[in-house]
Amino acid sequence: MHDETVTVTCPTCGKDVAWRADSAHRPFCSERCQLVDLGEWAAERYRVPGEPAETTPGKPDTETLQ
Ligand SMILES: [Zn+2]
Repeated sequence: MHDETVTVTCPTCGKDVAWRADSAHRPFCSERCQLVDLGEWAAERYRVPGEPAETTPGKPDTETLQ
């Protein structure tokens, strides 16, 4: 029997996703997770390479000590 179900891990939530033709959102488990990942990917693109990131939450700006 070669009936193994291939599963992948949802990049967004880490859930196991059956890799099947009818898994429309693979490798994501759902449309929601797919949209979340696309949103983050788009956000990454907004950061223009070569320009310093001006908004770094959680990181104190140590260059303004003078
Ligand atoms: Zn997911």
